[in-house]
Amino acid sequence: MSTLEIRDLHVSVADKAILTGVNLTVRSGQTHAIMGPNGSGKSTLAYAIAGHPKYTVTGGEVLLDGEDLLSMSVDERARAGLFLAMQYPVEVPGVSVSNFLRSAVTAVRGEAPKLREFTKELKTGMDNLSIDAAFAQRNLNEGFSGGEKKRHEILQLELLKPKIAVLDETDSGLDVDALRVVSEGINRFRGSGDTGVLLITHYTRILRYVKPDFVHVFAGGRIVEEGGPELADRLEAEGYERYAKALA
Ligand code: ADP
Ligand code: MG
Ligand code: MG
Repeated sequence: MSTLEIRDLHVSVADKAILTGVNLTVRSGQTHAIMGPNGSGKSTLAYAIAGHPKYTVTGGEVLLDGEDLLSMSVDERARAGLFLAMQYPVEVPGVSVSNFLRSAVTAVRGEAPKLREFTKELKTGMDNLSIDAAFAQRNLNEGFSGGEKKRHEILQLELLKPKIAVLDETDSGLDVDALRVVSEGINRFRGSGDTGVLLITHYTRILRYVKPDFVHVFAGGRIVEEGGPELADRLEAEGYERYAKALA
């Protein structure tokens, strides 16, 4: 049982206040969706949790099972059981997907998996996500299509088995078939009940496949409305206009 607690979080970027008091608790077994218009600060929340150096926390706290996440290095956050999709976005020439994943698994588990077992695990994960076998030998992130990036993200989830996963715009750049494969991956992964998922998205379409337990609407750098899955249905029908009006 794990809990990610975000308490009154304030974050600035380039001296501009973006997050203005975010409160949110995610427990294992729960899926929370954060939805909101472009520029409302959704990615800023993800980057702040990830520890991106450009995002300065000016107030509040983030706790993982009571431990102060904000004082941890990015690697420590991963070892503590946090998964952030954008954690390793860089292209790394000379490092294959397979090598990268084995290092990531070693870092998080604290010991290297036996090569034969890891190879089997990797193959199962790739088969589940309809990823071609040749993908494992490609250079990390080099020339990845949108769909390949997202599948790689979900493959990492399956191998790393984090306590809490933060997924930002996991549905962007996916065609319908890829969206279904990625959604099935998230559902398989959260089906264990051991993981809490924070799914950040501008669009409602992924929420047709991955049903959230809670929906939070972001506007102007904070949560302005909360509800169950029915809130996503209403946003799909009505859009974000009324929140924009409320802020103006
Ligand atoms: P969302 O993900 O909801 O679209 P973002 O968190 O990306 O919103 O952006 C929120 C606000 O913060 C925007 O006004 C954006 O211009 C600003 N912002 C985000 N990241 C940066 C950055 N690295 N440098 C300058 N401004 C930024
Ligand atoms: Mg945006
Ligand atoms: Mg964003």
